[in-house]
Amino acid sequence: MRCVACEKLSFRMICKNCQKKYFDPVFNKRELAKDFFVYSFYEYDGIKELLNSKYEFYGDRIYNILASLSFSKFGKNFEFIEIVDAVPIDDHTRHDFSHTAILVKHLKSKFIAPKINLLKAKNQIKYAGKTLEFRKNNPRNFFYNGEKRRNIILVDDIITTGITILEAKRCLEQNGCKVLFALTLCDAKN
Ligand SMILES: [Zn+2]
Repeated sequence: MRCVACEKLSFRMICKNCQKKYFDPVFNKRELAKDFFVYSFYEYDGIKELLNSKYEFYGDRIYNILASLSFSKFGKNFEFIEIVDAVPIDDHTRHDFSHTAILVKHLKSKFIAPKINLLKAKNQIKYAGKTLEFRKNNPRNFFYNGEKRRNIILVDDIITTGITILEAKRCLEQNGCKVLFALTLCDAKN
């Protein structure tokens, strides 16, 4: 196959050279609400085309590469007083994989337990390209069926307005959980 970034022949969807050259993560922090932070690893523009692979059959390979470069490292360096659950937002599957479930699996470490299929949006409406007002008027209506009173890291592939993350956070808090912070692959703040 060919590397999706440089088009040279490669055993991987993104060759080792390009992984280093273009996809070296840069840790970024955004305060979404008072004392609540979202951490991310890439700028949206830098990985925009790769993120669209979630709609393709080969998207799992792309997400696995990006997650191994960023989420895996974060997981290994994370320490806490007890084990924390990592919960993906919107982990329904397309093409037999869930892109956000791939991300949380890479967080697995001594202090982080990936938990999938616990937080579901009852409203699957698409937000891409929609206004803030539209997003506010069409909430996701999350439903959580995991353990109550857990410490949680929320995971998504992209943060734009942050409305979805805040809605998911509220849902978890209504279940007695504490959301420590959110972790996304990229930040599309403009
Ligand atoms: Zn390449």
